[in-house]
Amino acid sequence: MATVTPMMEQYLRIKAEFEDAFLFFRLGDFYELFYDDAKKAAKELEITLTSRGKGEDGIPMCGVPHHSSEQYIAQLIEKGYKVAICEQTEDPAQAKGVVRREVVQVITPGTVMEGRAVGEKENNYLLSVTPFEGDELGLAAADMTTGEFLVTTLSDFTDLMNEMAGFRPREVIVPSSFSEQKREELTKRLRVTLSFEDHTEPIDDGISLVNGLSDGKVKETCFQLIWYLKRTTKRSLDHLQPAQFYLPQEFMSMDVHSKRNLELVETLREKKKQGSLLWVLDRTATAMGGRMLKQWIERPLLNREVIEQRHELVGKLYDHFFEREHLQEQLQGVYDLERLSGRVAFGNVNGRDLIQLKKSLEKIPAIFETIRSMESSYGSSLMEDVGECQQLRQLLEESIEEQCPISITEGGLIKDGYSTQLDEYRDAMKNGKAWIARLEKQEKEVTGIRSLKVGFNKVFGYFIEVTKPNLPHLPEGRYERKQTLTNAERFITDELKEKETLILEAEEKSEKLEYELFMEIREKVKPFIRPLQQLANVISTFDILQSFAEVAERNHYVKPELQAEGDVVISEGRHPVVEKMIDEGKYIANDIELTEDRELLLITGPNMAGKSTYMRQLALISIMAQIGCYIPANEAKLIILDQIFTRIGAADDLAQGQSTFMVEMLETKHAVSKATRKSLVLLDEIGRGTSTYDGMSLAQAIIEYIHDEIGAKTLFSTHYHELTTLEAKLPRLKNVHVSAMEENGAVVFLHKVIDGAADRSYGIYVAELAELPEKLISRAKAILKEFEKDQSDMRDYQKRVAEGQSSEGESRSFFREAPKDEPEQLTLFQDDVAPSEKHTKSNL
Ligand code: ADP
Repeated sequence: MATVTPMMEQYLRIKAEFEDAFLFFRLGDFYELFYDDAKKAAKELEITLTSRGKGEDGIPMCGVPHHSSEQYIAQLIEKGYKVAICEQTEDPAQAKGVVRREVVQVITPGTVMEGRAVGEKENNYLLSVTPFEGDELGLAAADMTTGEFLVTTLSDFTDLMNEMAGFRPREVIVPSSFSEQKREELTKRLRVTLSFEDHTEPIDDGISLVNGLSDGKVKETCFQLIWYLKRTTKRSLDHLQPAQFYLPQEFMSMDVHSKRNLELVETLREKKKQGSLLWVLDRTATAMGGRMLKQWIERPLLNREVIEQRHELVGKLYDHFFEREHLQEQLQGVYDLERLSGRVAFGNVNGRDLIQLKKSLEKIPAIFETIRSMESSYGSSLMEDVGECQQLRQLLEESIEEQCPISITEGGLIKDGYSTQLDEYRDAMKNGKAWIARLEKQEKEVTGIRSLKVGFNKVFGYFIEVTKPNLPHLPEGRYERKQTLTNAERFITDELKEKETLILEAEEKSEKLEYELFMEIREKVKPFIRPLQQLANVISTFDILQSFAEVAERNHYVKPELQAEGDVVISEGRHPVVEKMIDEGKYIANDIELTEDRELLLITGPNMAGKSTYMRQLALISIMAQIGCYIPANEAKLIILDQIFTRIGAADDLAQGQSTFMVEMLETKHAVSKATRKSLVLLDEIGRGTSTYDGMSLAQAIIEYIHDEIGAKTLFSTHYHELTTLEAKLPRLKNVHVSAMEENGAVVFLHKVIDGAADRSYGIYVAELAELPEKLISRAKAILKEFEKDQSDMRDYQKRVAEGQSSEGESRSFFREAPKDEPEQLTLFQDDVAPSEKHTKSNL
């Protein structure tokens, strides 16, 4: 074992405390990493791995320059790692032995305050989970960049997972006793960084944050988060808002898969905003409005009163075109008040931030005035509870220089007239400089040297410069020589030296004073943090609602009529995203009617006809309505949905090791066990992941169950045309189909949804469209013909199933008769076999 130097001993001691983070160890102008940290960081950051010491005893090492460290830290945070910043906390020149070093901050994915890792229009939530007795769990969520702090309880782990997914967290804190299996599920399903914190007891400066909570258990969940923040950020928590308790039941519930499937805030495959509902609805002018809109879309409301209040203000903004335009202009000048106040609290606000704050506040009176002029009752009530923070604006107006630099230590921050002392220093500097300017003129005259000039540099201070050819013209003994250049000489005089001292002293003093004044102003801003956060909230709400009005006008949306329960009737509804993705005017609008005697629609029709678009359309329209937006339709009567369940398309779970069919069944279970009469259930081709009769039987049983036991509004699309016979048996089930037409041997999709079952699937046509080999296509046609021979058997079978007489034995015996060597899926392309309908002879 090689002996370790005292410095490395210090390193190892500190590293032991921060095992789960990269330790950035300050050595002069560099942050160095050692051992495994170095190996891993070199790979992740693509920097050179070297070694400290030679040969076998060499310690793996890599480093990044202190001044450009930010980008490297951001890269690691983005990848989900943590970084502990270890600084030299005493002057190396004064140190006896090894310089003292301490970790001053741990930056983690959930606590990062700035840089690339924090998206402008994204929240950055840090979550904290504590298990309570039984299955119950507490969940707290804080966004360090905005100060938002929420807490709730969930009845079990599945609900927790769904609730957490809505926050799209980067990091989750759990106690170290948290079960291994659940930890794994968290990191895998949510792709988060997991952190541990075992302190949950009250901490002094956190008490005011949890005062409003009545439930002692959830306070623990909050304290777990607060302890962790204290430990990592090592700063005050001033800007965290008091924790606010909410019930997940206050919002429409959607599980993770449904949210992903409906592409609410990003597309399923490419994870892009373009192509999502958010993309269509986001015409917000401010970053904070953009962030809040995303939250709204993730959490549609259930409270009809609030939804209708939002609709009311959207209506006013829709009608008042010019006011809306004016409002948008004002909003464009509003910076991120939430994050600015976060920086004030965190202590890293600079002059430019304060100017942004001032400029934002300048816009507030006009914004409020515009809203007032529209006489919206909701708008007025929002403004009642917040101040315009104009005192703060005035303070900043008087104190901070408009064109101030980023640095807060080099002066140029404070306006003239704010401090008499500062003005005096500035006068001294100005007078001194004026004197110097005069000196140049005077010396030119006295010496007659026209190229003589007075200059300044950091090393030598002020000087008089005379070019070499002019030196003979210089009166003897007039100046003292200071510096020789290739083609000039520089001089000083006693008087110049004197003035220089005066100027530099005044400069130094004024810089120092400016810094002090700036710190004072920063303190004066602190009491405004809470009012600013409240103001930010109201401004964001106005911003979102103007965005809704704008989108409503551009896309011809209407205000929906809402009821607690009853019928859903949409006339000429459209899919908000698909209609934007295809050519304008090409979208075929469709009615949707879900009433007492038609709660469950069984949708048939060819592939690519528009079945899933139709289903998603209903979900998206309902979500839009419940976030307060207008909707793409001519007219609509909706109910307030408590939950939406979807099983549409193959989700991205394959990568996570579950079979598609298993996922399908799990989601179906979730839907049938939780749905109510007020829920919307969308099931797309359930059962196709298994053998035909297996799948068909399951599909039928699921339909019957929802129909008889739940009564949820349900859209069920299927390729099993056999299921359309259920209409005769289930009174509240209706067949609808998406029409297609055959024209010159090709299929034309009409995208029109009409009552009745489809007469065929056109599967082979679609295969032809996809240009499968001709030989394959004609073989498929031949096989289909074979199957058609068995039509009568099928009909009999289906009839018996529909009448509920089928026994397992029978279905198995039928199954055995099916041709062995043909792929089962081909039966999907079969013609409709509904006994009630005339069988159309097909030459397929
Ligand atoms: P299915 O679920 O029946 O296979 P989709 O719903 O995926 O079909 O629709 C296929 C494509 O057809 C969509 O991507 C869209 O481009 C187009 N489409 C669907 N519905 C409509 C419609 N109502 N109007 C215009 N085009 C539509």
